[in-house]
Amino acid sequence: MTVPSSIPTVWILGDQLNRHRGALRDRSPGDCRVLLVESRAKLKSKRWHVQRLHLVVSAMAHFAAELAAEGFDVDHRQAPTLADGLRAHCDQFGVDEVLAMEPMSWDGRALLDRLGVATVANDQFLCDYRDFGDWATDRETAGKRLTMEDFYRWQRTELDVLMDGDKPAGGRWNFDADNREPPPKDGRTWPTITRFEPDDIDRAVLGRLAEAGTEVWGEPPDGLWPVTRAQALTRLDEFLTYGLAPFGPHEDAMLAEEWKLAHSTLSPALNLGLLHPGEVVERAEAVYRRGDAPINSVEGFIRQVMGWREYVWGLYWLWMPDYRDQNQLGACRPVPPAFTGAATTDMACVASVVGNVRQRGYAHHIERLMVLGNLALTAGVDPWAMTDWMWANFVDGAEWVMLPNVIGMALHADGGRMATKPYASGGAYINKMSNHCRDCRFDPKKRTGDTACPFTTLYWDFLARNEKALGKNHRMARQFGGMRRLADLDETRIRAADVLAKLDAGSL
Ligand code: SF4
Repeated sequence: MTVPSSIPTVWILGDQLNRHRGALRDRSPGDCRVLLVESRAKLKSKRWHVQRLHLVVSAMAHFAAELAAEGFDVDHRQAPTLADGLRAHCDQFGVDEVLAMEPMSWDGRALLDRLGVATVANDQFLCDYRDFGDWATDRETAGKRLTMEDFYRWQRTELDVLMDGDKPAGGRWNFDADNREPPPKDGRTWPTITRFEPDDIDRAVLGRLAEAGTEVWGEPPDGLWPVTRAQALTRLDEFLTYGLAPFGPHEDAMLAEEWKLAHSTLSPALNLGLLHPGEVVERAEAVYRRGDAPINSVEGFIRQVMGWREYVWGLYWLWMPDYRDQNQLGACRPVPPAFTGAATTDMACVASVVGNVRQRGYAHHIERLMVLGNLALTAGVDPWAMTDWMWANFVDGAEWVMLPNVIGMALHADGGRMATKPYASGGAYINKMSNHCRDCRFDPKKRTGDTACPFTTLYWDFLARNEKALGKNHRMARQFGGMRRLADLDETRIRAADVLAKLDAGSL
C-alpha cells in the first residue's frame, strides 16, 4: 500500500509488540506508517544472553512482518542508534508527526522527550503507574508502608478479580501458606511445553547478530521462547491446561533435574507485550471458576501477575531515577565469576541454577531470590552490577523488572523501603526447599571448615558485617540473637574471608 508522507508515524519499541495497545490501538493500514528501529548501540550495550537478545530482535521482526501482512506500511530498519533510526526515517518519508506508546524505561522516556515524540499512555499493565503513585501518596500520607499485599488486595477489589462480592474467593486473600511445600518425593512428571520451530526470520536474526559481532553468552536459541503472539497464546493455553493446577503447592521448590516445575514461563511474552496481563489473569480465573484448578494455585499465580509484577512496575516509576544508585549496605563486590560463566563452582545449587540460565536465559523466582540473590546479598555484591547482570542474562529482563527485584527485594540495598528485612538465609533453606544439597560437596549444616556450605558461612558473616545497619530491625531480632550466641563466630568469619576470596577468584 502506498502511503502519503503527511500521515503520522507510529513508532513501536521492542517491548511494545501488541497490535491492540498504545499508539497502534485504533490504527488501520493507510492512516499511519509504522517504524521499528533495531539499534546497533543497544545490541552492543551489554554482554547479553544470546537468547535474550535473539528473543527481542526476532519478536520485533515477526511483529513488523505481521503488521506488513495486515497492510501497514512498515519501516523496520537497522541504525546505529534509536535516534539515528528515527531521523533517517523522518528524512526518507518527510514525516513531521511521530507517535509512540510511553516507553517502559526511564531513559527511553527521556529519549523520546528529547526527540519530540508525542506519547500516549502505556497500557500494557493493569495499573497505570500514575494511579499507583496516587495510591502510594495516600498510603504514605496515612503513615503506612507500600506493601505488595495491600496493593494486591486493592487491585483485586478495584478490578473485581477472584472476588465473591466483596469477599476474596476461597475465603482468604492469601494462600501462600499452602504454597510452600518442599519438592515432592514421588518422582512426578511436570508439564511439558511446546518448542517453536525456528523460521526464516529467526534464522536471519541469528545471522545478523553474528555478523554484527555482538558479544553474547549462553546457549543459542532453540525455539523455547515465543516470538509471536500466536506462540505466546500457545504457551498460555498449555499453562492453563496443564500447569496452573499443579503450580501452587511447589511454587517455591527447586529441583536439580527440573528447570521450571509448573511455572508458567510467561514472563518474557508478557514483558514484550505479546500477552497482556489482563487476558492472562482473566483466563486463569476462568479456570478456577470452572473448577479445573484449586484456589491456592490460581491465587498464587494471579498474585504473581496482578500483584507482584504490577507492584514492581509501579515502584520503578515511583522511585526512579534515584533508585538505581541505592546501596545502603555499601556492597561493592563484583558479580561472581561462577554466575557469569567465567568459572565453574562446586556449589551444586549455584551450578544448577547458572546452568539453567546459560541453557535457557531463565531461572524461576525462588532460584533467582534464594540462590543467586541470596549469595549476592550475603557476599556483598554491588547492587547495580547484579541488576545489570540479571537484566542482560534473563529472557524476561528489563530495567523496570530488575531494579526493584534486585535492589529492593534480593539485595536490600534500598534500606528497607521495599522489603522489611533482608532475604538472607543459610544453606538450611536451600536444603529444605530443594534436592541440590544431596549431591553437593559442601554440608549445609556446617559453617566452619573446608566442607562448610558457603551460604551458611556467609549468612552469619553477613549478619556480623551488617550488625550496625540491621541490628535494630525488630524483624531480625531472632537472627541477631542467634548470631550473638555463636561460640565460633570468629572462626566462622575467618572461613567467610576464605569463601569470599575464592568466590571472587572463581575457585569455590
Ligand atoms: Fe548449595 Fe550449600 Fe546446599 Fe551446596 S550445601 S547445594 S552450596 S546450599
